[in-house]
This record gives sequence, C-alpha cells and structure tokens, in this order.
Amino acid sequence: MSDQAHCAAATAAEAPLRDLRELMLEELEQFVAAADERAFRARQVMRWLWRRGANSFDAMSDLSAEFRAHLKNHFKISPAPGAAAARSSDGTRKLLVALGDGEAIESVIIPAGARVTLCLSSQAGCAMACEFCATALMGLHRNLTAAEITGQIAAARRELTPGEELTNYVFMGMGEPLANYPRLARALSIMTSAWGMGISPRRVTVSTVGLVPAMERLLAEFPSVNLAVSLHATTDELRDRLAPINKRHPLKSLIDACRGLPIKRRDRVTFEYVMLAGVNDSPADARRLVRMLGGLKAKVNLIFFNPFRDAPFAPSTRGAVEGFQAILQQGNLTATIRESRGQDIAAACGQLYAQRHSG
Ligand code: SF4
Repeated sequence: MSDQAHCAAATAAEAPLRDLRELMLEELEQFVAAADERAFRARQVMRWLWRRGANSFDAMSDLSAEFRAHLKNHFKISPAPGAAAARSSDGTRKLLVALGDGEAIESVIIPAGARVTLCLSSQAGCAMACEFCATALMGLHRNLTAAEITGQIAAARRELTPGEELTNYVFMGMGEPLANYPRLARALSIMTSAWGMGISPRRVTVSTVGLVPAMERLLAEFPSVNLAVSLHATTDELRDRLAPINKRHPLKSLIDACRGLPIKRRDRVTFEYVMLAGVNDSPADARRLVRMLGGLKAKVNLIFFNPFRDAPFAPSTRGAVEGFQAILQQGNLTATIRESRGQDIAAACGQLYAQRHSG
C-alpha cells in the first residue's frame, strides 16, 4: 500500500462512526448503492430502526451477516437516552433526559383525555432570553442533534402506562427550535416520513418566538406541520423586553410574515400569549391584539404564567384572563385558555430548567 493509500485507510479507520439515527433515507440509499446491495435494503434497515425498535445491527436478522458487518464498519446506533421521571398529581410526567456529554434536557408527557402530548426540547438551554421563561436563565449550552430530539420520543414511550400512546408532539420544551433548524428539520423528517416513525405531520407543532426567515423555511419544507408563534405583547416596546428577539424581528414584520405563510391548507396559525398580571393583560392589550390579528387565520392560546424562583412577574387573575378572552372572541378571534399542567413538578410551560443547573 502506498503511503498515500495507507494514510487514507488510516483516516477512514479513525473517522468516527456516523449515528444511523441521524440518517435520511436518501443517504442510506446512497450507501446501499455504493455497497452493491439491493436498493430495498435501505428501507429494510430503516424499518428495523424506527418501527421495530432495533438497538443493534445484529438484531436486523433478515440482513446478511456480511452486510451487517459492512454497516457496523460505517455506522453506530446510539442507545435511546436514559431518563428520570417525576409524576404530577394531574398525570403530567416530566422526564429529565440525560445526554451523552453530561448535559440534561427536559421533556414532558401531558395526558388530556384521549390525547397524550409530548413536549419536546430542541436545545440544551436557550439563547433567546425571554424574560418570563425559566429556561432563559440557563443561556444556551448547545443544540441537540436529530438523534437527541427523536430520542426523547423513545424515552417518553418507556414511561407510558399500558394502553397509553403519544398522539401529539409539540416543540415547546427547552430551546428555540428554529434556532437549531438543520437538526430540527432532520428530526422532523425522521418523525413524519413513512420510512421513519410515520407520525402524521398534522400532529406535530413547532413553536417559535418569531425567527421570521426560519418560519418561512419551515412551512415551505414541512407544509403540514403546525406553527405556533409566541407573541406575548401587542407593542414593540413591551415585546422588546419580554422577548428580545423582537428587536431583530419586530411585531409588524412578524405578523406580516404570518400573513404571507402558506396557510391555505392549514387551519390557522396559533399565537401563544402568556398572561402577566398588570403587564400585558389589560382590555386595551386585548383590543390591540384583535386589531393586529384582524383578517389572519389565527387562534390565540392564553396561557397562565407559571412562576419560577425569582420570576419578576405574577400570573394574571382568572377574571382578567377570561375578560381578555371575551374581548378576543367579540373581535371574532378563536381564543382558548390553557390551564396550567404539572405545576407541582415544575413541568409547566416556562418552568423547564434542568434541575442540576438551578443552583
Ligand atoms: S420562551 Fe422559548 S425561546 Fe424564549 S427563552 Fe424560553 S425556551 Fe427560549
């Protein structure tokens, strides 16, 4: 072997194995073609991985030993992450999911009648610095990989009770999903493709604080995924403070972008509005919101604020929230009140803050 060839072989041998859980079908198909295997082998491997829960290549019993060895030389299969679970008196379960490098993230299982929603994290921490959010206190530690995003689903499934099934998936846990777009997109492809987990994209919601260009890209690439926009204020002055990303994408550009989204086949854009006593919950705020969203296919979720340690806000009273809702409804907006879930285990919206970082 020439020095050059020797070098190339050594480099290939030392290259870290790619995680099969990160792969798109097309990438595996290219690998299969290069290995002179029959094309359907790629789907066969994906079926083992995503539908039959294989955790090793040896479990893929209808592949030849030779092809399994070839796969092992190029890929690894990361184990589903371990998780510690806390259960709330209302059935909500918070999972503290351990990542390989010592980071930890939180996912939340929220049962409500026949619907069981999994709230997923997309980053360890978050850089968006929203003033009402406990995760913001961590700052951004790092982006999650696609395998770490989908790994939360595997971890959650282990915590389900017999007969219980996850029905809905919302990216409302730790992190701003659109700030981690390439890995989020990979995870969404795995979740919603027939070759992957086969979850209906209509059952997946991505929530953003308003990264306008990425919002447009998301709906161009995943037109059936639901979009939720965290609004929380009706003036730039207040939103600059509550959600500082507003300085980069102010309200007008955000709402204009929402008007331009391909929502023909979609029901509507959901706007999240956390109700903060004496801050954003006045009748004047409600009337401004009606004017702002006029003519848009929109639904507004009014969310009770869940206080966390040293939080500079208090939740609005039920009367204030109901009065706010009534004004929105009179203005022909669909407005629902989201009751707080899992407060006793700090699993409610805005409380996700990995315990070991809470000092
Ligand atoms: S509300 Fe969302 S975007 Fe804002 S700091 Fe918290 S996790 Fe980040």
